[in-house]
Amino acid sequence: MDTCLFCQIASRERPVKMVYEDEQSVAFEDINPKAPVHILIVPRQHLATILDATQADDRLLGHLLLVANLIAKQIGIAERGFRLVINCNSEGGQAVYHLHLHLLGGRPLSWHPA
Ligand code: AMP
Ligand code: ZN
Repeated sequence: MDTCLFCQIASRERPVKMVYEDEQSVAFEDINPKAPVHILIVPRQHLATILDATQADDRLLGHLLLVANLIAKQIGIAERGFRLVINCNSEGGQAVYHLHLHLLGGRPLSWHPA
């Protein structure tokens, strides 16, 4: 997936404000934040959308949620609250076709935050 933006970010070919990294995932600040906290949590494995995940990816999907949990606690928004969003395909508002979770917080969130 040489041309995939988030594959390039995960392999450090493109600079971002990285906030977390492990063997399976990376997390970095969104370049166009919709809230004071807007972090993208991205698996290193290329899955274009959540629809491309299968039973074989169940541990990875769980891991991404636990990374969100960890980051929310680390940056101090866990108690106030936050939102996790996955956009899927065109009507879901997906722009980058490499699966990612939006972690949004730092202000009260209305609907359509991402
Ligand atoms: P989505 O609409 O769910 O596909 O979200 C894609 C997100 O990626 C948007 O919130 C963009 O602002 C963000 N984004 C696009 N390019 C970059 C980049 N180079 N670094 C960080 N975030 C990016
Ligand atoms: Zn990719």
